[in-house]
Amino acid sequence: MYTIDRIYIDGAFVTPHGEEWFDLFNPATERVTGRVRLADAKDARDAIAAAKRAFPAFARTSQRARIDMLRRMHAAVVAKEDELYEAIIEEYGAPVSRGRWMAQHASNVLSEAARALEQYGFTRQAGTAEVVMQPLGVAGLITPWNSNAGFICGKLAAALAAGCTAVVKPSEMSALQTQIVTQALHDADLPPGVFNIVTGRGDSVGAQISSHPDVAKISFTGSTAVGKTILRTGADTLKRVTLELGGKSPVVVLDDAEFAQAVPLAIQAGFMNSGQACIAGTRILVPRPRLAEFEALVRDEVARTQSGDPRDPRTTVGPMVSQKQWERVQRYIRIGIDEGARLIAGGEGRPDGVAAGWFIRPTVFSDVTNDMTIAREEIFGPVLAIIAYDDVEQAVAIANDTNYGLQAYVFSQDTTRARDVASRIEAGRVLVNTLAHEPAAPFGGFKQSGIGREYGTYGIEAFLEPKAVLGVL
Ligand code: NAD
Repeated sequence: MYTIDRIYIDGAFVTPHGEEWFDLFNPATERVTGRVRLADAKDARDAIAAAKRAFPAFARTSQRARIDMLRRMHAAVVAKEDELYEAIIEEYGAPVSRGRWMAQHASNVLSEAARALEQYGFTRQAGTAEVVMQPLGVAGLITPWNSNAGFICGKLAAALAAGCTAVVKPSEMSALQTQIVTQALHDADLPPGVFNIVTGRGDSVGAQISSHPDVAKISFTGSTAVGKTILRTGADTLKRVTLELGGKSPVVVLDDAEFAQAVPLAIQAGFMNSGQACIAGTRILVPRPRLAEFEALVRDEVARTQSGDPRDPRTTVGPMVSQKQWERVQRYIRIGIDEGARLIAGGEGRPDGVAAGWFIRPTVFSDVTNDMTIAREEIFGPVLAIIAYDDVEQAVAIANDTNYGLQAYVFSQDTTRARDVASRIEAGRVLVNTLAHEPAAPFGGFKQSGIGREYGTYGIEAFLEPKAVLGVL
């Protein structure tokens, strides 16, 4: 049993003013493995005050100095990679291969931000004016549990690259990962107050950050419902807001696709991060004449997908993060059955031979229509919907018939066709015959998947505001 009883304010580990204790679980065993003392609204105010004090000096640091800081942060997180990897498996239940990727991602986002900052020009000319990109002020960074370390480091990297100071509010369910990341970032020896990390509840610490007049910018990753609350709360003080929210991403399989490649990619896109991914490809659109062929390959692929012990290297789907998430996913599987979708793999309950842990049977429905609940709502678990279409027009219409617009996938052997379909899909990212990530490219959602973009220079600019100075050129 571990005990986490410190938060990080003004360059020091301090005891929270908040007195609530929160249990931490290993989702693969359902056992309590530790507890965390949560920060409260006063702690959030103290953190905001520290970030406010640090801002004037930090905003004036040179680009070179901030690149060096990001590189030190990168090295410090790399030094904790193994510890972080263990925590990700223990606390989140990520399968080992995914866990390793996540632990590395946490440091990679820092070096990627350093690279983007190296190429970024803060001053440009517009007509007779000099335009200077100026940091916004104190940034509130609010993150979810499904890639905790990566989100903390990624948002912090972009905010600090821009010259903002920050208060981070990570998910209360990921306190062990947060503690390791915080220790690493402390080791990077940044000026006190530049970043502060306060683990607490959303409705106290999160609400305080999103309403506080001294916070200029909120960058939030999480559910669409909470994103809307933050947008409303921030409106009073006209905060700049970046929202990275939910998704219901379409996977458009064109009729010329090579199924031997498309099916494994579609299954990986759907089950990535154990299905707990905002970018998961959860609606698979398949040409009706090839539906039976596609389904047969999906059955084989899912049969090879192991949901179970995250430490077993053959496992690709780990447990849901909490009992609440497990129950939510079970409820959606039941709704799919009740609404008349046809199960072609998986179903309710735990996988065969698994007695404990919040594990789901990797599940695929076919005969789904786009008006069914399982095609409209984000399930956030390994549950996929196959929807048949008659022609490309209809496929594009179905792909876009959703409140979301985060990511989409197109599979085709013909790049020209794939590019044409990609151009018509309303999503922030479209991946053609690949699941690759490009850190220099913008990431974010159309429609109710969010506002604004992260990554690369787009991510840095989310923490900057242009100022025009006339008469100096
Ligand atoms: P959540 O919205 O419940 O919580 C996210 C964070 O917001 C947590 O730190 C939480 O404590 C905080 N929060 C809750 N209420 C708040 C409030 N009133 N004010 C301020 N902060 C508050 O989401 P979750 O369950 O942690 O994560 C899952 C969701 O995140 C999914 O919907 C998923 O799609 C989304 N997500 C999006 C992306 C993306 O980049 N678009 C990435 C990962 C996850």
